[in-house]
Amino acid sequence: MIDLSTDIKFLPGVGPKKAELLGNEAGIFTYEDLLYYFPYKYVDRSKFYTVRELNPNMPYVQVKGKLTSLKTVGSGRHARLTATFSDGTGTMELVWFKGHKYIKDSLDPKAEYIIFGKPSIFNGMINVVHPEMDKVDPAKSVIRSGLQAFYNTTEKMKKGYLNSRGILKLMQNLFKLLQRETIPETMPAPLTKRLKLINLNDALRTAHFPDNTKHLEKAQFRLKFEELFYLQLNILRIKNQRKLAVKGHIFKVVGDNLNTFYKNNIPFELTNAQKKVIREIRQDMGSGKQMNRLLQGDVGSGKTLVALMVMLIAVDNNYQAALMAPTEILANQHLETISEMLKGINVSIDLLTGSTKKSKREELHEKLRNGELNILIGTHALIEDIVKFHNLGLVIIDEQHRFGVAQRAKLWKKNLHPPHVLVMTATPIPRTLAMTVYGDLDVSVIDELPPGRKPIKTVHYFHNKRNNLNRFLRSELEKGRQIYVVYPLIKESEKMDFKNLNEGYEYMQKAFPEYTTTMVHGKMKTSEKDEAMQEFVSGRSQILVSTTVIEVGVNVPNASVMVIESAERFGLSQLHQLRGRVGRGADQSYCILMTDYKMSEETRKRMNIMTATTDGFEIAEADMKLRGPGDLEGTQQSGLPFSLRIASLSRDSQLLQYARKIAEDILDDDPVLEKPESIMLKKQVAKLTSRKMNWSMIS
Ligand code: ADP
Ligand code: MG
Repeated sequence: MIDLSTDIKFLPGVGPKKAELLGNEAGIFTYEDLLYYFPYKYVDRSKFYTVRELNPNMPYVQVKGKLTSLKTVGSGRHARLTATFSDGTGTMELVWFKGHKYIKDSLDPKAEYIIFGKPSIFNGMINVVHPEMDKVDPAKSVIRSGLQAFYNTTEKMKKGYLNSRGILKLMQNLFKLLQRETIPETMPAPLTKRLKLINLNDALRTAHFPDNTKHLEKAQFRLKFEELFYLQLNILRIKNQRKLAVKGHIFKVVGDNLNTFYKNNIPFELTNAQKKVIREIRQDMGSGKQMNRLLQGDVGSGKTLVALMVMLIAVDNNYQAALMAPTEILANQHLETISEMLKGINVSIDLLTGSTKKSKREELHEKLRNGELNILIGTHALIEDIVKFHNLGLVIIDEQHRFGVAQRAKLWKKNLHPPHVLVMTATPIPRTLAMTVYGDLDVSVIDELPPGRKPIKTVHYFHNKRNNLNRFLRSELEKGRQIYVVYPLIKESEKMDFKNLNEGYEYMQKAFPEYTTTMVHGKMKTSEKDEAMQEFVSGRSQILVSTTVIEVGVNVPNASVMVIESAERFGLSQLHQLRGRVGRGADQSYCILMTDYKMSEETRKRMNIMTATTDGFEIAEADMKLRGPGDLEGTQQSGLPFSLRIASLSRDSQLLQYARKIAEDILDDDPVLEKPESIMLKKQVAKLTSRKMNWSMIS
């Protein structure tokens, strides 16, 4: 019996150098890791082409023929080895830029070869660069029929002779060792039988050495299902476990503060969606279990009001509440809005950010410890270890995609009993991703905007239409509206961006001399930033030129136009967030996307989606399709607990939902996998969790 946890360096063909590369570059440390290193594509090697048929548009092809000449061209660094190769229908050229001597020595000029590679055209002749060469010699034949697997490798791996073919060779060596063995099953037999899944042994062999597409599909289905199934089983089991184990603070009463607020202070009728989510949250907080809830609501749906009311419930039950925002501007704004709404109500509330002065800070710390302060609003500063609460009962995290997993985990430790946690986000997360990254949270959705909002009109202009744009902006300004102009600011090209921002600021000042233009960017001192922001919020300035610091949360209902400069440089979800800064009042609002005339295909798609819909979820789905889940804004930090090895959240969303359903059914019967028939499931889940990080911290 071969031990699959054997160090990869013991595999024939590996050795210490390659072992190090495999580990560092591809995370392959053991035989098993190699088994689960799946190809990213397959190429059909059952078909042969003739030289005459080849054209440069073809993907990988194979041709059988003979070498007719072999020579080194050029010298020094530019030297290359070329061979002519013909099969009777025509002649082509083979080219090597590296490893000449080795290749020259290993080629047999009289033998017949099967060459495999990507045809291109050079000097009017078909050529293949660095082809794979297999001598036609049945005794030594490698793979020359069926589908050939292609593996991802890095530059460093390629230099160390571990290109795709190198990995394939290792895979062959591994399967040679495993020839007489059956790779042990990892899913319970009743389950594979019921779901008609092929066994693991066959699935793994087929995934690396498929004989045809039909088998390959079955193997991929089994392996992807398993990966997604255990992922979901684990997330849901943790959720169950926590519900059973962790006691929550019980908020029984609906008390004076909330009642007074509701009677005297509430500025408008709650929407039905707001009522619904407040009910859901109240139920959680009264249940005796600790709440872990995700509140999704598109920009402008009124989450702040929900947060405020929920915090009042905590205060009415003699607990403290904290509201954490991603930026100082936003924390400030929350403090203002909330203080304003709480006028005349006896609740003490304060602000803690990175720029809170030391003396003020010490005073705050004291008031938090002795319970004098009821509600604390702040930024990251509020989760620093030094901040201790008297009895923190509720934490609300606004726009959480800015907060990493580790930061959220810190909150857990703030009390002996962890506080109730409400995570609010306007960044719509595709369903599949939400199920995975926040799969152990309960979800509430505000699926309705406050009444009287008109959908924002979005248009896309090229830079050369600036005169038209200005005419339009002037007409809006004349109506008394305000305008945002946003420029990208991305680290790598900071200098350039600053130049654009400053020029944009000057340009607007010149173009609209009778109005006041202000500028805000992240490099300004907080006080300057706040001052400039305040100019705009108060209406003293009508045009705000800024970077994305205004992206999240800022609320100026009188602003009706959002101009996004160099819109091609923003991702979809960011564009959507920015657009959400307007359309907050009763007036018709507009979003104008400015791009260069020359656009990439992807930019064009993004602009089309933005002009076609204002539905955040639709946009999030489109974003994931365009960029893949790994690149989605924020998911890097909030991150998947580990990377998937074969399944894909964007391509396999149906399978994910199916896998989750199966996992749910199993846990309905056995919530934390204690029954004897769950032994194997439990073991696999444990193996999964040991692989990377502590899952219970993803809340
Ligand atoms: P977000 O969900 O993006 O955080 P906000 O809480 O900032 O949204 O609310 C957006 C705007 O809608 C604010 O001006 C707020 O006062 C207003 N608003 C919130 N709830 C209601 C409501 N029920 N009716 C009318 N306006 C509301
Ligand atoms: Mg908000």
